[in-house]
Amino acid sequence: MNQDILNTVIIGSGPAGWTAAIYACRSGLNPVVVSGPEVGGQLTTTPEIGNWPGRKDSPDGFSLMQSLQEHAVSLGTAVKSDTVVKADFSSDIKELTLSSGEVLKTRTVIISTGAKAKYLGLESEEKYKGKGVSACATCDGFFFRNKTVAVVGGGSAAFVEALYLSNIAKKVYLIHRREEFRAEKIMVDKLDALRDSGKVEFVLNAKVNEIIGDGNKVTAVSVEQDGSVRKIELDGVFVAIGHKAATDIFKDQIELYEDGVIKVGFGSATQTSVKGVFAAGDCADRVYRQAITSAGEGCKAALDAEKYLLR
Ligand code: FAD
Ligand code: NAP
Repeated sequence: MNQDILNTVIIGSGPAGWTAAIYACRSGLNPVVVSGPEVGGQLTTTPEIGNWPGRKDSPDGFSLMQSLQEHAVSLGTAVKSDTVVKADFSSDIKELTLSSGEVLKTRTVIISTGAKAKYLGLESEEKYKGKGVSACATCDGFFFRNKTVAVVGGGSAAFVEALYLSNIAKKVYLIHRREEFRAEKIMVDKLDALRDSGKVEFVLNAKVNEIIGDGNKVTAVSVEQDGSVRKIELDGVFVAIGHKAATDIFKDQIELYEDGVIKVGFGSATQTSVKGVFAAGDCADRVYRQAITSAGEGCKAALDAEKYLLR
């Protein structure tokens, strides 16, 4: 066997990537994980994971992901701390170019590149990124101790962020464009319970028009609510309106949906439109997008890759 050609390269080090690596090691595929710009993936910024089976102690996301990584490495996973910048799936031996310039040649690829935070798309939001606008409360919440902040969004991520910030900030506004929430009921109830104290305020049926600042930092948001415009004075805005699949580098190589999610199910559950290329986790999922479902897809992708190689 040509030593330069790998059996399996796994792109991404979230729950899908590490789980794929664990299964690929146990099948003797000697996988290489390219860990990407965010080692451990999206979960690493979240303070509490309450739904990982077997962990009723609700670990923080960073430690949970470290334990997955340690497991994968202990079984023999090779890790490249780099990012894939180009993919060529035009022949049986696939080529992946890393940002260092190194080219990996491999018989199978498991794409588990997850998703990246979406922003509102306002000019003023761009202007104040890092000056009061953030998409990660665990990373930046510290700067808002005893200050007033808003979280934009109505999904589980927005509620996780708002609950976390409610322990740090003086006041948290939850700004959402509808009245109904996508977030899990248990989280909605927890945040709702803080409203009586005045620490949390829901601003519903509301659209953020502009983030206002003094040039150096955020000072307010302008919100359109029920036909009128309201200005809320605050120090920080946390945008938690969902994520977009991180698949731009694959768009000319495999079939994607319009929103960038990878199409799978070509012959096996995780098979993409190109034979030997599999996808798992948030990059190929527009329904479930949970840590445990991503891990499950990672397992399936490794088993599918093994079957493909045996053939
Ligand atoms: P990700 O975790 O997104 O990981 C993607 C990986 O791909 C990263 O390592 C990244 O560096 C890498 N990558 C990207 N591009 C490249 C590239 N070009 N080259 C190499 N590597 C690349 N789910 C739960 O079940 N429970 C929770 O409590 C929970 N809390 C959450 C809290 C927040 C704030 C957020 C945002 C999400 C939460 N989720 C939770 C959802 C969960 O994080 C995701 O479903 C899960 O992380 C998806 O795993 P993944 O492996 O598919 O991708
Ligand atoms: P999400 O569930 O897609 O929710 C996104 C929210 O942002 C929705 O309320 C949406 O409003 C709003 N939104 C979207 N675009 C907007 C825009 N342009 N302007 C204003 N509001 C906008 O995303 P998420 O909360 O990031 O969660 C992603 C996945 O991770 C989900 O599957 C979730 O279950 C999972 N997750 C789980 C946990 C957990 O602890 N179990 C924690 C975090 C995330 P509409 O409702 O009106 O569409």
